[in-house]
Amino acid sequence: MKPYFSSLKKISLGTELQFIEDTLISDVFIDSRNALLHKSSIFFAIKGARNNGHQFIASLYHDGVRNFVVEEEIDPKYLPGANIFLAKSSISTLQSFAALKRQLYHGKLVAITGSNGKTITKEWLGQLMSSFYSVYKSPRSFNSQVGVPLSLWPLSDYQDYAIIEAGISKMGEMEHLQKIIQPEIGIFTNIGTAHDEGFPNLEEKALQKAILFKESSTIIYSKDYPEVAHALHNIPDLSSKNLIGWSFEDNTSSYFVETEEKNSLTAIRIPFNDKLFIFEVPFTDYASLENITNCLFFLLNEGIPVKLIHNALMELKPVAMRMEVKQAIHQNYLVDDSYNNDLVGLDTAIQFFRQQKQFANKVIILSDLLETGLSDSLLYQQVAKKIETEKLSLFIGVGPAISRQKNLFQTNSLFFNTTEELLLYLNERPIKESVILIKGARSFHFEKIVKSLEQKIHGTVLEVNLNAITHNLNFYRSKLKPRVKTMAMVKAFSYGNGSHEVANWLQFQKVDYLAVAYSDEGVALRQHGIHLPIMVMNPTVSSFDLLTKYQLEPEIYSLELFQEYASFVRGKKGAFKVHLKLDTGMHRLGFESGDLNELISRLRDNPQFKVASIFSHLAGSDEAIHNGFSAKQAFSFKKMAEELIEALNYRPLLHLLNSPGISRFPDFQFDMVRLGVGLYGVDATQLHQDRLQSVSVLKTVISQVKFVKQGDTIGYSRKGVAEKHMRIATIAIGYADGYDRKFSNGIGKVHIQGKPAPVVGNVCMDMCMVDVTDIDCTAGEEVIVFGQNPTLFELADAINTIPYEILTNVSDRVKRVFYSE
Ligand SMILES: *Cc1c(COP(=O)(O)O)cnc(C)c1O
Repeated sequence: MKPYFSSLKKISLGTELQFIEDTLISDVFIDSRNALLHKSSIFFAIKGARNNGHQFIASLYHDGVRNFVVEEEIDPKYLPGANIFLAKSSISTLQSFAALKRQLYHGKLVAITGSNGKTITKEWLGQLMSSFYSVYKSPRSFNSQVGVPLSLWPLSDYQDYAIIEAGISKMGEMEHLQKIIQPEIGIFTNIGTAHDEGFPNLEEKALQKAILFKESSTIIYSKDYPEVAHALHNIPDLSSKNLIGWSFEDNTSSYFVETEEKNSLTAIRIPFNDKLFIFEVPFTDYASLENITNCLFFLLNEGIPVKLIHNALMELKPVAMRMEVKQAIHQNYLVDDSYNNDLVGLDTAIQFFRQQKQFANKVIILSDLLETGLSDSLLYQQVAKKIETEKLSLFIGVGPAISRQKNLFQTNSLFFNTTEELLLYLNERPIKESVILIKGARSFHFEKIVKSLEQKIHGTVLEVNLNAITHNLNFYRSKLKPRVKTMAMVKAFSYGNGSHEVANWLQFQKVDYLAVAYSDEGVALRQHGIHLPIMVMNPTVSSFDLLTKYQLEPEIYSLELFQEYASFVRGKKGAFKVHLKLDTGMHRLGFESGDLNELISRLRDNPQFKVASIFSHLAGSDEAIHNGFSAKQAFSFKKMAEELIEALNYRPLLHLLNSPGISRFPDFQFDMVRLGVGLYGVDATQLHQDRLQSVSVLKTVISQVKFVKQGDTIGYSRKGVAEKHMRIATIAIGYADGYDRKFSNGIGKVHIQGKPAPVVGNVCMDMCMVDVTDIDCTAGEEVIVFGQNPTLFELADAINTIPYEILTNVSDRVKRVFYSE
């Protein structure tokens, strides 16, 4: 039996890939969660440390995917009509296809590497060059061993330039990437300590990165990094290469670049080909100047006329480094990608958009794609096809070109010639309760749409980093034995972080169970597309109908509650899942050992109850001094649970551990663990705090800065007294936002420009005053209340509480912004 095709053949370049048996391949993917699933996609199943892509093949087949590259034998009998290719290694196969695709590309390929600034340099270079040429750039940070091959897939000869980002995290990786990318031109941004672990020292790291350019003809870099200069001079055949090593510092250098700052602009003087060119850019910070200088040398070297460069610089836009979901007016959410519009960028945005399963209504607002090389009809055919799969409630096209192609699009679409026309329309007929993807080419100024939709509330936001949640989840998962399930605790608005947004993300990360405190919380999750099983810990009699209507599973903790729920379900059809809570020493909720006989007899009388799990809760897992007590709890839990199981004749899931318990007690994992605060970046045991990432940052802004004379007082009850002449800043956060009044009078410190600013006087309801005598700040500036610095722990310690309370106290009126990098 060998029905596998033994090799892949017939590959030719087009916008689509000609494949064996005349199958057209338009999409390549390795992550089953956010792909376009159709018969012209190909899935590369990769066996990773934690996930095995092969386990998703059946469901992908079910969703219409027909092409698979696998590295484990699978039985093709269950996948009739599919092309299955058995490879030694899926990643290497993916890499060699990408290399082939690269060889067939005839435009100019530019590669960017370095420690910092790769993405910004790529995005800016893309912005600048696309004023003159058709430019392809690799999607956001697709720069790894699998990211690079995926980013090369869309290469096509109508693109004059392709700009590809490459990053490595350990020795030897760049050899592979060099072979795949084969850049003609290289930009080496800089060298720093990012991802240092994989390299013995900075010199070696620079040498490794420089390998990318060993066959390039032109290399642009800053000589101000001696390791970079040294590494590049180690490349073979140097004399035949055009090395542009510029410097901000060394005035003897032939590419000595001078900068002069005035009124938040910077003039950059660049010597090139015996001439001096002066450009003006709208920023002053060192990193931005370095990135733009690399771009400018590139443009000059490509012979772009100076006047055109000036014009392009005027249009330069900040680079959004991440995709965000923001709360907006009319209960909308926005995915703002308003500066960028090309076909590949559209794919990335749609992928992110697709993850927002918590919303039933989806709207995309898209401008003309200013892409040369494809005819309008072909281009918008492709766009329409991508959008069709998203099942939108509304599509809005803006611009003359897309409007001319309106027949290609779904029926519930609207078209406008200009952004202004759309804004007028939205004024009359606002979009409501939807998630809206906003994506437009720069000239359409879609930031106006974003501004008109954004929630106009005070400038205090809680930023929630969804990738950090994934990181923390994976950290705890790595401590679990195989097959131990994870229940994620999303009670109390996901510990203050936002309920359905976080739950949706956790569902996407494939946790097994969710738990909330109250039925309403569970209902809200169901209404936002959460289909995971949900346990409700405090069900009330008045909410029983909600439980059954929304398939929520109550925790049953007493004989009374058992009886009430039993009477409620009597006469109703079907099985009703319940979770039995045992009290083993917490003395909060739960059956005690004396209740078991009665409980067992009632379970026998009520066979419509299906016990989904039996669990208990540790009272002192956060502190080592209680280890003995925790172990006792575990033993009585096991004993009581076994008694119940024997009577039940089937085995429900058993679970005991919360986050600190997972850190301490690998032996008590049973069938599942209940992960709460650890997900949100807090290790209550403090044992692994450095392995977790902080998830949320509470930020506000300075409303006003003023001078206060010695002897004057500040705020209510005249509690703040100026012992010297002081500068104070009034910031837009108070106890009604969750900034505890106990932070008054120097107990709390916020950070401004990375420096601590202690609270002066009493915290007010909506604001408070902080001492900025030694910080040179102005109104409008950002203030960090908690995040990486100061940490939740520091805040909690200062007012004698625990991080849980600080997090869950952040009030509803504080806008949440969710992002993933
Ligand atoms: C909140 C809660 C958890 C999660 O605890 P963390 O310390 O946040 O991990 C687990 N189990 C029960 C019963 C809870 O109420």
